[in-house]
Amino acid sequence: MGGAPLLMDVYDRLLKQYGAQGWWPARSPFEVMVGAVLVQATAWSNAEKAISNLRAAGALSASAIRGLEVEALEELVRPSGFFRAKARKLKALCEFLCERYGDDIASMSMDGTERLRRDLLGVYGVGEETADDILLYALGRPVFVVDAYTRRVFGRLGFDEAEARYGEFQALFHERLSRDAALYNEYHALIVRHANSTCRSKPLCEGCPLSAECPRVGV
Ligand code: SF4
Repeated sequence: MGGAPLLMDVYDRLLKQYGAQGWWPARSPFEVMVGAVLVQATAWSNAEKAISNLRAAGALSASAIRGLEVEALEELVRPSGFFRAKARKLKALCEFLCERYGDDIASMSMDGTERLRRDLLGVYGVGEETADDILLYALGRPVFVVDAYTRRVFGRLGFDEAEARYGEFQALFHERLSRDAALYNEYHALIVRHANSTCRSKPLCEGCPLSAECPRVGV
């Protein structure tokens, strides 16, 4: 890892620069789950349009999604891209919620994190990032979410782990930060904010709150 900065120092700098992000932007844990599927491989603004469509159609519940014809669901989630696959993924997630928990999030919350994660990963269309979005932002579990933005920012900051497999990269955060859901919630949101506004594909290093410790600055 060489001279990479301390994780809490990065966090403190990002928080000072951007302020608390107030994530996840959703009205219920179920809406977080839907958003976690719809945001796959697209910008949040596109996922948001699809969620608005679902809400306007009265289809923002697991039972409503199960009851929709798949073609109708595809039309509602079309703005999020890959809409055919995402409609199937939402159906699969809602079937899982019914079969396992009777659509009761409180009952889901009774399960341990490892079991939840394993079971979520067994649902069609739920990969590690989506499962961890659900665990952290819908269920408040202390699981650090790793995404492409995390890899970009921390790769540039000199963390070799950013090239590693999901679990290995995630372990960096789990081992070096306290297992604190509120901290992980804010940290991931700040990474996304930083990657969107400053550490973009073409980074805007001037004025970056991490520039003093970043080996990539100015490159
Ligand atoms: S200094 Fe540049 S490359 Fe480094 S974190 Fe900031 S924006 Fe990204």
